[in-house]
Amino acid sequence: MLLDGVTPPRGDAGCVHSVPWFTARLGGALVELSGSRRDLTLREILAESIRRTADAHRPTCDLSHVRTPQATVVVVRWDEAGIEYLVLSDSVLLLESPDGEVRAVLDDRLDRLPRELLVSEAVADARARNKEGGFFTAAADPAVAERAVTGRAPRAGVRALAAMTDGASRWTEMFGEGDWSACLGVLDKEGPQGLIDRVRALEAADTEREHVRGKTHDDATAVYARL
Ligand SMILES: [Zn+2]
Repeated sequence: MLLDGVTPPRGDAGCVHSVPWFTARLGGALVELSGSRRDLTLREILAESIRRTADAHRPTCDLSHVRTPQATVVVVRWDEAGIEYLVLSDSVLLLESPDGEVRAVLDDRLDRLPRELLVSEAVADARARNKEGGFFTAAADPAVAERAVTGRAPRAGVRALAAMTDGASRWTEMFGEGDWSACLGVLDKEGPQGLIDRVRALEAADTEREHVRGKTHDDATAVYARL
């Protein structure tokens, strides 16, 4: 499981808590329910985890605030028979088949938005964040689980998998250092820290901002599992 908490740009988000408070609760519920409730789909588990987390701060906070604490989500669950996955917002999931083919599972709504909506965070918040036709994150509305990209694969069809926040997938998506297959190769040989070190070096070297758009550094986390 991988979450990328969204930091409010202007501080105020109608919430007395913090983004880490939110991601710890949402992540805790996701881990608990994916293990204990094999009868529920990952969509149902995400919806219930959002509901629980929202209930934990509904009495004190304005959950209708566009910047109420929220996160991108990747969840993968597997047993002997199969693999289930869920991706919401701009983190990336890579699945490698036994013959070495790598497939990226992406929720690309953010990439498909018209550029004019992304000129400022305020415009994106007002017109696209968790709005019809825009992009969706796990915030306070359980119904968002319906927007997640989900799927299943036979257990024998996946040899390795990786989940990355957009700060780590920059290696492929922003800097073009290699395709998803090469990216998974870095994770296999050097581990998540190896990939993140490479991204940080590329960011530091991009003084002319040839590649980097937006933040110079973004939270970079990666998980790699060889099954
Ligand atoms: Zn709160």
